[in-house]
Amino acid sequence: MGAAGAAAVMGARAFRASTPAGDYGAAVEPSGAGAAGLAADHAQAAADKLSELITFRTVFSEHRDRIELEQFTGFIDALERLYPRVHATLGKELVNGHGLLFRWPGSGPGAGTRSAVLMAHYDVVPVDERDNWTHPGFSGHQEGGYVWGRGALDDKGALVVIMGAIESLIEEGFTPAHDIFLSFGNNEETAGDSAEAAAALLAGRGVKPWMVLDEGGAVALEAFPGLAVPAAVVGVAEKGILDLELLTRGAGGHASTPPRMGATARLAQAIMALEETPFPASMPGPIVEMLRRIGLHSGFALRLVTENMWAFKPLLTQAFGVVGDETRALTRTTVAVTMMEGSKAANVLPSIARATANIRIAVGETVESAVERVRAIIDDESVELTVLSGHDPSPISDFGNEQFALLSSAVAASYPEAVVMPYIQTGATDSRHFTSICPAVYRFSPLLMDAADRASLHAVNERVRISSLGTGVVFYRELLKGLG
Ligand SMILES: [Zn+2]
Repeated sequence: MGAAGAAAVMGARAFRASTPAGDYGAAVEPSGAGAAGLAADHAQAAADKLSELITFRTVFSEHRDRIELEQFTGFIDALERLYPRVHATLGKELVNGHGLLFRWPGSGPGAGTRSAVLMAHYDVVPVDERDNWTHPGFSGHQEGGYVWGRGALDDKGALVVIMGAIESLIEEGFTPAHDIFLSFGNNEETAGDSAEAAAALLAGRGVKPWMVLDEGGAVALEAFPGLAVPAAVVGVAEKGILDLELLTRGAGGHASTPPRMGATARLAQAIMALEETPFPASMPGPIVEMLRRIGLHSGFALRLVTENMWAFKPLLTQAFGVVGDETRALTRTTVAVTMMEGSKAANVLPSIARATANIRIAVGETVESAVERVRAIIDDESVELTVLSGHDPSPISDFGNEQFALLSSAVAASYPEAVVMPYIQTGATDSRHFTSICPAVYRFSPLLMDAADRASLHAVNERVRISSLGTGVVFYRELLKGLG
């Protein structure tokens, strides 16, 4: 997902009422004639390649027999045909079956000291046949300045702009001074293990990337109230995830003689306790900085608040909690009970009742601390808690360092109007597996998305602006040249 995480932050939907409506589409293309011209040169070629790559139904599944493996191998073969220079110049290996790992060897001294990993994934979420797509979900149809189809934004679009940038740089004779790795996962959407395998492979070879860049944020229009320019939001951390089972036991038996506070009643009580007692809120550093930068580019009232964050922070933290679901998710651990189960028949008391809570762990907490807090909130020893799966939030990558400055300058070269800001993703990305080998992991795709585009992520009518694909190529060209 990742980009859907961007949708969550940029949601800030509660604020949107005060956002001037209107289509910024044409107005925010890069104004620098050079960048704009270059972007236009790359846009259509990138779009045509993306259109073809979308036609491969690379939907991964935890059930191996449901995976159309020929779609994955077909995608890999098409990639080789569409980007011949990349394949002639970079070393490629398959990881964990269908994950792709490329290495563009650096030519300078100490090529490994400032290496970078550029990431994307080419598996996609399914297309629901009941949804009424304007153009079929795997058509890659081009119309109205868009490429339509599943994966256009998440995340084949990002993959295409990375590949387009490298293909064009090779054509111009460019060779990087430092090693560049490309890691393209084949099972991100199912929280699969290919990215983890790629990170382990690199770790085993002693690779310590200077920087990692994966999907996540985007160049967002209509993201914040009073902010008339696009926001290039760069994820510097992501929340953790925990699937926690709540289980209660009862004697079973016939439902005609029920005991007081049986298994289902105690389970319901536990769920209501979690609903009524939210986790404590906090305002992490990246969100404070995000608000400050929004303030610098927006109206007086918001600037007043964000320039005096020290005074307003407690109030804002509280406001985030009540203003809307998305802003609340930015400032605290959230709990959603998603699955429940009791007995198998209407007239049978359950001997076991269970619920699964999907918990998104805020930065600063851990799986362990979240479980302890759930235990304290429920305050009932008869409710058994079992961690089904989970991982801690990522560390926060620095946003005052050379890597973030390089990202910012690549944004400036491709989207000169955009204001760059850090944020924390509420969704998970493959990049979490790389935080163990690199302290500077960022989550950002250089694709322009308005609110409607973001709403198409994991939903109906996913599409990407053709012009933005060209601009995305320019972003990665600048980044790669800046890496030296
Ligand atoms: Zn994704």
